[in-house]
Amino acid sequence: MTSRKQMMAVVMCVAALGGVARAQSGGGAGQTPERLQGLDPAFLDKTADPCTDFFQYACGNFSKLHPIPADRAGFGSMTMLLDENQVILHSILEKAAAGGANRTPNEQKIGDFYAACMDTGAIDGGDLKGLEADFKKIDALKSRSDLAALLAHFQLVNVGAFLNYGEQQDFADARKQIAAVDQGGLGLPEKDYYLRTGAADEKLRQQYVEYITQTFKLLGEPDAKAAEDAHKVMDLETELAKSSLDVTSQRDPKNVYHMMPVADLEKMTPAIDWKEFFADTGTPPVTEVNVTYPPFFKTLNALLTSTDFETVKAYLKWQVVNSTPGWALPAKFDDAHFDFYGKTLSGQQVQQPRWKRCVAATDGALGEALGQVYAAQAFPPSSKEATQQMVRDIEAAMDSDLDTLDWMSADTKAKAKEKLHAVANKIGYPDKWRDYTKLDVARGDALGNADRAMVFESHRELDKIGKPVDRGEFGMSPPTVNAYYNPSMNDINFPAGILQPPFYDPQATDAENYGHIGAVVGHELTHGFDDQGRQFDAAGNLKDWWTPEDAKKFEAKTDCEVKEYGDFTVPGDVHVNGKLTLGENTADNGGLRLAYMAFLQDAKRKTLNLDQKQDGYTPAQQFFLAFGQNWCGELRPERARLQVQTDPHSPQQFRVNGVVRNMTEFGQAFGCKQGQPMEPENACRVW
Ligand SMILES: [Zn+2]
Repeated sequence: MTSRKQMMAVVMCVAALGGVARAQSGGGAGQTPERLQGLDPAFLDKTADPCTDFFQYACGNFSKLHPIPADRAGFGSMTMLLDENQVILHSILEKAAAGGANRTPNEQKIGDFYAACMDTGAIDGGDLKGLEADFKKIDALKSRSDLAALLAHFQLVNVGAFLNYGEQQDFADARKQIAAVDQGGLGLPEKDYYLRTGAADEKLRQQYVEYITQTFKLLGEPDAKAAEDAHKVMDLETELAKSSLDVTSQRDPKNVYHMMPVADLEKMTPAIDWKEFFADTGTPPVTEVNVTYPPFFKTLNALLTSTDFETVKAYLKWQVVNSTPGWALPAKFDDAHFDFYGKTLSGQQVQQPRWKRCVAATDGALGEALGQVYAAQAFPPSSKEATQQMVRDIEAAMDSDLDTLDWMSADTKAKAKEKLHAVANKIGYPDKWRDYTKLDVARGDALGNADRAMVFESHRELDKIGKPVDRGEFGMSPPTVNAYYNPSMNDINFPAGILQPPFYDPQATDAENYGHIGAVVGHELTHGFDDQGRQFDAAGNLKDWWTPEDAKKFEAKTDCEVKEYGDFTVPGDVHVNGKLTLGENTADNGGLRLAYMAFLQDAKRKTLNLDQKQDGYTPAQQFFLAFGQNWCGELRPERARLQVQTDPHSPQQFRVNGVVRNMTEFGQAFGCKQGQPMEPENACRVW
């Protein structure tokens, strides 16, 4: 998503975002990209039985051909496409970096941002000037009443010390943009990482404390003091974690929506001078704020009042270093960060090559300046037209799907259709590009560029408060290999980066394209009707439009999926969290069904012979194989555990087998028999 922490907890995307803290985004190993194609026969494992383990059949050879590279925590179809996109972005950036006086203003910015990131000589030899200015401000803190100004400054540079602050559309009235304060301030991925018992978690906490200790040592503290400070930081974060809302509960929009007058927040957390805080972030005047989770702010007040001031200062320094992008810091800090977040938490063995990290960093900071050039090169109007046609087909499929549901009343169906017909489609890139004129980018100043880009983005977002909503905005940059549904906007968004082979391939059969990108389109559309999305109406407001009986029936249907996915496990015998992944699983299941219906309609329109095999497969088999190959690949065990404990997306093998086993059409296409693993008797169906 955007480079700032996404305030609104309910934007749903198709792929796991991967990584924690400073995400290790970017491409795979130095393999030569090959032409990706719709359905790749080389990935199939024909020795497997599709009715026993379809993921193995569709993708069994993928990881033999493409083992996880050392600089990756996982590798799959999406990462392959990411690599291809990165090669294009790389050549755009190398050209912009080398270009002289004739560059356009955008070329200057992306070229110099990239060049500064690549300039490890300047970064390693630099004096941490940006950070030292922050350390001085921390050292100069005289009393707790000075904290508000400092926390406001930190928010602008994306240091989420103690809390997170941002803007969101008002859940109750999607036409309004409001201020929101959210829990924050943790360095581990999720509250349970501080609280779970057992040897593995205790070891991880110990490794985290060692990393904090190492960071303090690098800042020049003597060993004993560094260790002492690290323990104090850990204790403080643990207290914050205890009062934080867990990742599963955060998925329910009602749990993270508590509008109140600013005066009430002032009463709840008087340890922060909120008037000063809002003013110092440059926020337009606000009288009301969404305090996402009030109990956290009560605890925060107690902690700010009772914690000794030296601990608060140590914690702030730690937060500054840990939140600053590693590529902008000297190698010793970058390496320490990678050792914990990359190696220990995700199993990634080595850092990605510098150029890949710098491509990702430039995309994060100047996504629409870079993406404008990318889209012109990589996204022809024909791809946009084909995607639009597919979206229309899949929306039509949902319309007829609603007609056939036997469990939903006519009243709720009418409301569901109203919502469906109001969904806006955004494809490729925005009509109006972001203006980066006011962002200064300088060669030789990686850390300064990172800070200024973050402040620029913070102001861009905070300036929205109190203004009308811009419905044309994209929440992902054009080269992104992902897609999302935003319930407040009631829109589905497909960046140009995912509308590429293998997901959309002009040379593939229609069956393959419906299985690939059609399933992604169906997934996003179904998000509007999953356990989160269904709580928002056609206008994007959090408003119940269901009859109580229909809501009850919906919950019974989703309970089936909660149980189904909760039985899946990853290495270490960690179970998939059926509740955390419910929305994504519902979207996967509904999405594939809609894509299949749309494919059949399209086949009828084109009088396609459904018995005619191509390369040994009927069109229906091609459809399911293409879908399966969306998710080829594997995760390192560390990343798999991290994903099931923090991410709403199920690991990829379950995104294939968990879905096809619920569709009798799959069993028919492959001639499966009742009782086989991919055609069980207890299949689930919501949409
Ligand atoms: Zn999703």
